Amino acid sequence: MAELSTQEKYKFKRTLEELGKKRGQGTELLSIYIPHDKQISDVTAQLKDEVGSASNIKSKSTRTNVQGALASVLSRLRYYRMPPENGLIIFCGAVRISGDKTDMESIVMEPPEPVLSYSYQCSSEFYIEPLEEILKDKKTFELLVLDRKDAAVGLLIGKRIEAVRHLTSNVPGKQRKGGQSAARFSRLRLIAINEFYKRIGEAASTVYLKGDWGDFRGIFIGGPSPTKEEFVKGEYLHYALQKKILGVFDVSYTDESGLYELVNKLSQSMDDMEIAKEKKMINRFMGEVIKENGLASYGEEFVRENLKAGAVDTLLLSEDLKMERISRRCGNCGREETITIAADGDEQDHKVCKCGSTLEITGRRDIVEELSEIAEASGTKVEIISTESEEGEQFFNAFGGIAAILRFRV
Ligand code: ZN
Repeated sequence: MAELSTQEKYKFKRTLEELGKKRGQGTELLSIYIPHDKQISDVTAQLKDEVGSASNIKSKSTRTNVQGALASVLSRLRYYRMPPENGLIIFCGAVRISGDKTDMESIVMEPPEPVLSYSYQCSSEFYIEPLEEILKDKKTFELLVLDRKDAAVGLLIGKRIEAVRHLTSNVPGKQRKGGQSAARFSRLRLIAINEFYKRIGEAASTVYLKGDWGDFRGIFIGGPSPTKEEFVKGEYLHYALQKKILGVFDVSYTDESGLYELVNKLSQSMDDMEIAKEKKMINRFMGEVIKENGLASYGEEFVRENLKAGAVDTLLLSEDLKMERISRRCGNCGREETITIAADGDEQDHKVCKCGSTLEITGRRDIVEELSEIAEASGTKVEIISTESEEGEQFFNAFGGIAAILRFRV
């Protein structure tokens, strides 16, 4: 499958969030997953059966709504001779809007990944779990940091770091006690080191062999020299894991904090990883923020001004913004305005105009999509920053999630 671009991913994620919030009055929302190789005529036949069984539903409104939804899906399916390449997903039903009011909605989508099996569900909410799976960054790496005193084994799952094991050794320090022969001391020390490496290897292998891996890519190893090299050359890892060593890095901490240090190090050298890209962007932005007259801007108002002036090199937007740009107009005096509101704030919906009349909403856009469009029209790069990494969270909390790296200062 072609991977979704960050903007496509963002859009898809928001669509799912919206779908996930919708509720029916009763069990009357249909979710139908049709794989590519399923005959449309089979689906149609099954749905016609469902229309029949729906007549047994006791609640009159639920019965009417389910039958209405089925009829709507059946009429939609008439346009298909066969399902598209990735199959077809249909969500349809009477969605509750406020109080007792419902609105018949129907969403037909071709998913970015193939539908694997046919499913028909009727529930009070839409069945979106299989689609949520697609969004998960399933790339997983094992992490290992070690020296002769400690070691930590962890995982990097998508953008999340998880510490799994911490080991400490009983390797004696370099200073021998009086009365011990130098040769004997160093022999005992080597044995202890070897034992510790074996224990580390076993711990790393256990994590690897017992892992329920989505998409296992390999292991990264960190530590001071020459310990980590000694460990790698000594082949203390399970042979299957030994083959999957992706990189060895100098890291000064070898407890759990070393795992974070390791990810920082490897981020610098692994450009294809999303976490690395995000961190790099934020670090570049932060670098400009702390400079006097640096090329950075943040806050919606300032960023908009810079965008208008064509001064933005890269627009940074947090995917957690959840704000909308709405336009509204007064039918009485003709006054128009465009404002930004929280996506779930509806208290602004019926704002009264200066003339006393009610402002009607004439347009409504997700702010990330709206700003991205403005940016792209002037050749500005757009980066959508998740809040899954520490940096991304900071970016959202400290800078409001809207920022820009500038080409020049206005
Ligand atoms: Zn007015």
